[in-house]
Amino acid sequence: MNIVLLGAPGAGKGTQAAFLEGKYGLVHISTGDIFRANIKGGTPIGKVAKSYIDAGKLVPDEVTCEIVKNRLEEDDVKAGFMLDGFPRNLFQAQQLDEFARVDACVNISVDTALLMDRICGRRVCSCGASYHISTLGGKTTCDKCGRPLYQRADDNPETVGARLETYNTQTAPLIDYYAAQGKLLTVECGNASPEEVFAMICEKLDNFNK
Ligand code: ADP
Ligand code: ZN
Repeated sequence: MNIVLLGAPGAGKGTQAAFLEGKYGLVHISTGDIFRANIKGGTPIGKVAKSYIDAGKLVPDEVTCEIVKNRLEEDDVKAGFMLDGFPRNLFQAQQLDEFARVDACVNISVDTALLMDRICGRRVCSCGASYHISTLGGKTTCDKCGRPLYQRADDNPETVGARLETYNTQTAPLIDYYAAQGKLLTVECGNASPEEVFAMICEKLDNFNK
């Protein structure tokens, strides 16, 4: 099974991807993580990506599509994959349909009013775990691995405003794109916990696959 995870920044795609990886054994591919690794490593891709990411804009399609296409040619994805952060516009979705098969699109729908606080209060660990300051009680290290937590460079109010705008104008139209293909599974989160959201996703996926 190959899945696209759709949702605004801060909707919880990364958190749900980690759960889904555990339950279904799907390989998690996050374009944001790939870009951040490239920025950290000082690669040519990282140098290009940084200016766009800091501005809350999309990294150019040529760069992004090439990265995903190459990643999907690796052997491990044959067992099934989950794309987190790709596609992010119509062109990327059309390209993806050229080089891979998508079975379902899981759309994680969250009230936009919640997103700014969620993202600006987010603290992450290099192991992939993600927390919100409101539940950390002053703790500065990761519960899962003990390493120090940090704030992503693009998790500040200015950049988040631009990212939400980019999502609304460029990414949200993909909801209709996948609905038209009969592949859309939307989960309305309300104020459900990550575990509750995961249960809703599993139910939708299991019914869809019957
Ligand atoms: P979030 O979903 O919280 O905004 P991500 O880690 O998915 O965070 O992405 C961070 C940034 O990386 C985006 O704001 C964008 O600049 C860039 N990026 C990630 N995926 C793509 C993509 N598919 N196309 C273009 N840019 C991307
Ligand atoms: Zn950790």
